[in-house]
Amino acid sequence: MSILVVGSVAYDDVETPSAKRKRQLGGSATYFAYAAAHFAPTRLVAVVGRDFEQEHVALLRERGVDLEGLEVAEGKSFAYGCRYEDDMNVRVTHFTDLNVFADFHPKLPRSYRDSELVFLANIHPDLQHEVLDQMNRPRLVACDTMNLWIETAREPLERLLGRIDVLMINDEEARLLTGERNLPRAARRLLAMGPQRLVIKRGEYGVVMFSADGVFTAPAYPLEDVFDPTGAGDTFAGGFIGSLARSGALDEAAMRRAVIHGSAMASFAVEDFSLDRLVRLSDEELRERVRGFRDLSRFLDPEIE
Ligand code: AMP
Repeated sequence: MSILVVGSVAYDDVETPSAKRKRQLGGSATYFAYAAAHFAPTRLVAVVGRDFEQEHVALLRERGVDLEGLEVAEGKSFAYGCRYEDDMNVRVTHFTDLNVFADFHPKLPRSYRDSELVFLANIHPDLQHEVLDQMNRPRLVACDTMNLWIETAREPLERLLGRIDVLMINDEEARLLTGERNLPRAARRLLAMGPQRLVIKRGEYGVVMFSADGVFTAPAYPLEDVFDPTGAGDTFAGGFIGSLARSGALDEAAMRRAVIHGSAMASFAVEDFSLDRLVRLSDEELRERVRGFRDLSRFLDPEIE
């Protein structure tokens, strides 16, 4: 199945307790597309400025990402700066320079309109609506959002929830959207707002998926060294949707496998800055980590078998 992502392609300044990197390739659509393209053909819609470097175009192209929908506009690319505290679950945003993103309206090339799986990465909900307005009946639409839109664009965001199948947000966003601290209760409310399935990302505590089929959880992979958590959520989403595309199925078993594939991809992404670890990732390493996830909570208990 073909995949379409719409979101940001950015230059990020990232500071962690151990290192600092300036102008590294980032953006929600970038991380998503790079991870998804490991599994299946992926099309990208985004805007960059004239400063966007050819080596980064080449990196995405070599991965097989379809860049017909990457618009180059007069001005500078979207830029984002953040710092992580010693507790790497805490991220402080330094700056968000929208630049060419400020006037962006996604335009889908004709060849993208029949994409079967769509990921609306974190952009203004009005723009997420604009994407869906241009699509011919996708089989599955997933979307992300952020605090800013929950606080400033709630109406179009709530309307969007009625048009999507899978909502992928973090625990803080789930609480903000519902006003409910308890996650299972927040999940019940969110499912009543439209999506059939909800995936809540909880950083180093892993992921919980809620649907009418029940609840499924995956831990985060226990890593001793996390270098850069930036893009982990988008990489998760790329692995998740990529896995569904490769399997061709959208049932509960496929969704559970997708959660594990997404978690495995995200666990690699945080092992180095930007896309660096994903660039070096082999199929065998990915398979080995998926096996590792399976073993993390597999156990035998003769009393309940
Ligand atoms: P994540 O760590 O998964 O939340 O994603 C971080 C990525 O999202 C970074 O590479 C940023 O460039 C990008 N990003 C940060 N803020 C925004 C925003 N307001 N709109 C779109 N993309 C953003």
